Amino acid sequence: MAEGQLFTKILIANRGEIACRVIESARAMGIATVAVHSDVDAEARHVALADEAVSLGGARPDESYLRGDAIIAAARATGAQAVHPGYGFLSENPDFVEALEDAGLVFIGPSARAIRSMGLKGAAKALMEEAGVPVVPGYHGAEQSEAHLAAEAERIGYPVLLKAVAGGGGKGMRRVDAPAAFSEALAAAKAEAKGAFGNDEMLVEKYILSPRHVEVQVFGDGTRAVHLFERDCSLQRRHQKVIEEAPAPGMSEEVRAAMTGAAVRAAEAIGYKGAGTIEFIADGSEGLRADGFWFMEMNTRLQVEHPVTEAITGVDLVEWQIRVAAGEPLPCAQADLAIRGHAVEARLYAEDAAAGFLPATGRLDRLAFPDGLRVDTGVREGDEISPHYDPMIAKVIAQGPTRDVALARLKAGLRGTEVAGSVTNLGFLERLVAQEDFRAGEVDTGLIERHQAALCEAPVADAAALAWAAMIALDLEGAPAPRRGFTLWAPLRRIVTLAHQGETVELAVESRDDGSHVITPVDGEGTAIEARWQADGWRLDGQRAPGWHREGQRITLFGGWPLEMELILPGQGGEAAAGGDVILAPMPGLVRAIFTRAGETVAAGQRLAILEAMKMEHALVAPRDGIVAEILTTEGGQVDAGAALIRLEAAEAGDAA
Ligand code: ADP
Ligand code: ADP
Ligand code: MG
Repeated sequence: MAEGQLFTKILIANRGEIACRVIESARAMGIATVAVHSDVDAEARHVALADEAVSLGGARPDESYLRGDAIIAAARATGAQAVHPGYGFLSENPDFVEALEDAGLVFIGPSARAIRSMGLKGAAKALMEEAGVPVVPGYHGAEQSEAHLAAEAERIGYPVLLKAVAGGGGKGMRRVDAPAAFSEALAAAKAEAKGAFGNDEMLVEKYILSPRHVEVQVFGDGTRAVHLFERDCSLQRRHQKVIEEAPAPGMSEEVRAAMTGAAVRAAEAIGYKGAGTIEFIADGSEGLRADGFWFMEMNTRLQVEHPVTEAITGVDLVEWQIRVAAGEPLPCAQADLAIRGHAVEARLYAEDAAAGFLPATGRLDRLAFPDGLRVDTGVREGDEISPHYDPMIAKVIAQGPTRDVALARLKAGLRGTEVAGSVTNLGFLERLVAQEDFRAGEVDTGLIERHQAALCEAPVADAAALAWAAMIALDLEGAPAPRRGFTLWAPLRRIVTLAHQGETVELAVESRDDGSHVITPVDGEGTAIEARWQADGWRLDGQRAPGWHREGQRITLFGGWPLEMELILPGQGGEAAAGGDVILAPMPGLVRAIFTRAGETVAAGQRLAILEAMKMEHALVAPRDGIVAEILTTEGGQVDAGAALIRLEAAEAGDAA
């Protein structure tokens, strides 16, 4: 390789884990890096990792990460020769690519022309049809009247999927099962598309039953393209990926050849340069078939889930992007690429799975991952998950010689992950990885929704967990102090009050002279737990005590779904700490709708209001059964994070059971 021709400095026009990941590859290649950041990201991990950093402006993307002019000025001021866009933000914006090139800078990615040709789903499908790539049957024409679209839906045959041609991130999409529902679904999809993309043009597609999302990583040098095999991203929630893996379970060599062949054809048809992904929808009802997959769209950028491809091929895709952007040819030929083993990625988010996946914010008081995983993250312990951006904490990637081994490693890795300070989807992910159908490779995009209840219900702390939290509350978690004489070194019996999931529990901790403790619920119901120290740690009724974190009065226990407990100090009412009496806005946003009124009796989990924030709608649900005492906001109102929205009346007597 002609090292001398590579860039000496690049600017990364992004934030979070992807900015960090690009910086790491650049550094390994001896290339200096420039980070850009918004005001709230001044101390962010990507800024700390880069050699230099330039401030762009306010927290809002249009004041910072979307300001192409400011990014170009930063590149020129720092002497960077090229700009890596990461994903999201400006990565698929052809006008930005042209502005960069006009300024004499190199865009590390495809040409503006290639991005444009794939930017609108309808035009991309037409282009792919010409190139002989199978596309999802449907209508992607210019005539947009409701009557025409409805007639096309009839012709295609229900169920159909309405899709925004400018769509992305699973938005502006509606499945329609019957003609009677068409009109309403179209209006909803158009409204969402208008709001999100400023373009409400729709295409109509056959809704593929038992759908599997299988995509092919391609890489081109502007003339030739190779593929780096497929990824299966069928585990989705609301059309957004949750877990991705490579290779796809149940993929035969015959189907792989057909799919990767079509993908390479697609990339070469547009003279593609750099990393891209061809997304296919496959009919999984009878396993993957060579005649059972169809082109959905092309993402002309590095994909969030690219690490699983790197894991099975040994290729550093960012290094390839940089080399090809610098004018080098494809680093290797198709014949040099092979699949080794299996890899799985899980997206760890600050979101509350038990509350309808409500995005969360907070300071990561604890953040630690076990060895043996690849962890791509943009945050460190102590960092804030701010309401301004995507609440992703990390991507956790495990690999192994077989799918079973990779899944077992991912499960163990998630179990060993410790995160406190914000609610996360960690426990949900661990359950999902262990889910029977997924383990068996029987995946489709409806799997999560079908098993939502079992996957999302927050566990209740058992007697041992409560006992352990009580010990932590009393600072008894370390090795017991050696006994000196017969002085009583601790009070014999102490009472600890803990709040957990809206309930208050009182526990008596009896400390014996031999250093052991017995922890019993004060109300006499429930089992007594014996805690004994054994060489390297506490055992609770013989079981090793789990990892934990304490922040003030808040105690978190690890080892699967993190269990949160609040220590109630004497004199403090249990009520406030038990939580749930006031529903707060989890982030700044717009109150879209309120579904309740003062005096109404509501049930735990009932949807009370919708908050629109971070470009998504979040349902705010009742944390427990109760009566609405007061509505503290109005529909259409703008609220700050932490604003009180709805107050529930104190729990009624009798629901303490
Ligand atoms: P990928 O297709 O690479 O797996 P996703 O489907 O998760 O990525 O997201 C599609 C694009 O939308 C990505 O470029 C991602 O950065 C962007 N995106 C995802 N979530 C958000 C969000 N909450 N706000 C803005 N952009 C987002
Ligand atoms: P986006 O740009 O939002 O990523 P896509 O066209 O890639 O939009 O579709 C997102 C997801 O929606 C897919 O991963 C798949 O789960 C589902 N989907 C898309 N098209 C179809 C279809 N024709 N039939 C069934 N599911 C589909
Ligand atoms: Mg897509």
